Amino acid sequence: MKFDDYIYDLSSPGRTGVDLPEPDVPPTPIPEEFLREDLPLPELSLPQVTRHYLRLSQKNYAVDKGFYPLGSCTMKYNPKVNEWAVRLPGFANIHPLQHPHTVQGAMGLMYELQEMIGEIAGFDAVSLQPAAGAHGELTGVLIMRAAQLARGETQRHKVLVPDSAHGTNPASTSMAGFTAVEIPSDKDGNVHIEALKAALDDEVIGIMITNPNTLGLFESNIVEVCELVHEAGGLVYGDGANLNAIVGIVRPGDLGIDVMHFNLHKTFSTPHGGGGPGSGPVGVTAELAPFLPGPIVALNEAEDAYIWHYPEKSIGRIKSFYGNFGVMVRAYAYIKMHGAEGLRRVSETAVLNANYLQARLLQMGDYPVPYGHRFCKHETVAQGKIAGAEDVRTLDIAKRLIDYDFHPPTIYFPLIVHEALMIEPTETEDKETIDAFLDALDKIADEARENPDLLHEAPHHAPVRRLDEVRAARHPILIRLPSAKAASER
Ligand SMILES: *Cc1c(COP(=O)(O)O)cnc(C)c1O
Repeated sequence: MKFDDYIYDLSSPGRTGVDLPEPDVPPTPIPEEFLREDLPLPELSLPQVTRHYLRLSQKNYAVDKGFYPLGSCTMKYNPKVNEWAVRLPGFANIHPLQHPHTVQGAMGLMYELQEMIGEIAGFDAVSLQPAAGAHGELTGVLIMRAAQLARGETQRHKVLVPDSAHGTNPASTSMAGFTAVEIPSDKDGNVHIEALKAALDDEVIGIMITNPNTLGLFESNIVEVCELVHEAGGLVYGDGANLNAIVGIVRPGDLGIDVMHFNLHKTFSTPHGGGGPGSGPVGVTAELAPFLPGPIVALNEAEDAYIWHYPEKSIGRIKSFYGNFGVMVRAYAYIKMHGAEGLRRVSETAVLNANYLQARLLQMGDYPVPYGHRFCKHETVAQGKIAGAEDVRTLDIAKRLIDYDFHPPTIYFPLIVHEALMIEPTETEDKETIDAFLDALDKIADEARENPDLLHEAPHHAPVRRLDEVRAARHPILIRLPSAKAASER
């Protein structure tokens, strides 16, 4: 049997991995229209299935296997104690329709989490409902709009979005039914203040701003940006995806931000990136608290019990039930485990690691760092433009890194950096790992000059070679089943 056997090739008629008991109810005939002949399922034993899936999982790359410097995604190590916590029967076996009286522990955890992340980022109230960062953005834009409509300001319809923003920012704006207006960055990577002033008028709902921004830079004008937007009657939405750089150091609410999402799965450690559940709570100022999506958890002091509460002017429900509870448990465990001082050290170490990486990149000189004249925060953006290897592109460098057993950084984002390589090492990596990654980049630069085709054809050692990503997106083959005839011939 070959290691790479396709699961259908292992199938053998009559082989099974389950042993079902005799039914103790009368059989019900299956309606004809639900029966089909062309759905052959492989017949396999339990060990075959186990090995098949384990082998598949080993072909994948994960942060538990190696360095995963995917910029803006905060692929930090996810402590295993989080997984223990979320599997506790009192958390794992409850149902969202249970009476609050029977789930006070879970509601208490949610209440404390609301309080803790509100405290961390400087907000008065928090809703845990949104399912991810992008969902938090949509929620935040709807909240800003609802607050302005409540003041009778019906004319506002524009949301300002810096050109360095994540694509979800303009997308959330459009999804909420509004118009995104791009604001350029200045030469230091901050929001261009004069361009912002020119764009502000009484049709502006507000600005969506990421701080540190996606260039990995702290917006040095953030206080002025917030003041200008507020003077124009607008509100400030903070994209909190990069919170990992500033926890315990500065609170976005104190800077003038009115509403912000947290990516619990990034900053507060839940495995993510495979399309699994995330969590994107939003925090707001006292002024916006009445508009939060409900229900949120409140404490009824008279009865000393947690209750579900609908804020009085709530924009309504934006997720079934109460959000992705499993992610909340992990984030809670993570925050409690670190404590305030530990969380600050997380951020300090993340920033130190990124600056070490940036300093060595500048020293190496093969990969330009367009904003390298500034200290970065948790990530740095370099360029895959190697002198003497003009036909090698960032994509080739990223693919070659796979041959060195590293997950590539984020590439071609942010859009304002040509041939971008956006590298976020996170705090959980040691110096040896970061050095090994930089050494690989160093070798790749030499290879690019000496043998560019080695890069053009990379990866050479991965389970699959270079994929045609455009064709994969345009013509996805979602399922590959043998025909019934082929299966019966086997
Ligand atoms: C990840 C990210 C988002 C979107 O968050 P999701 O949880 O993936 O929906 C938004 N903005 C920035 C800057 C991000 O890095």
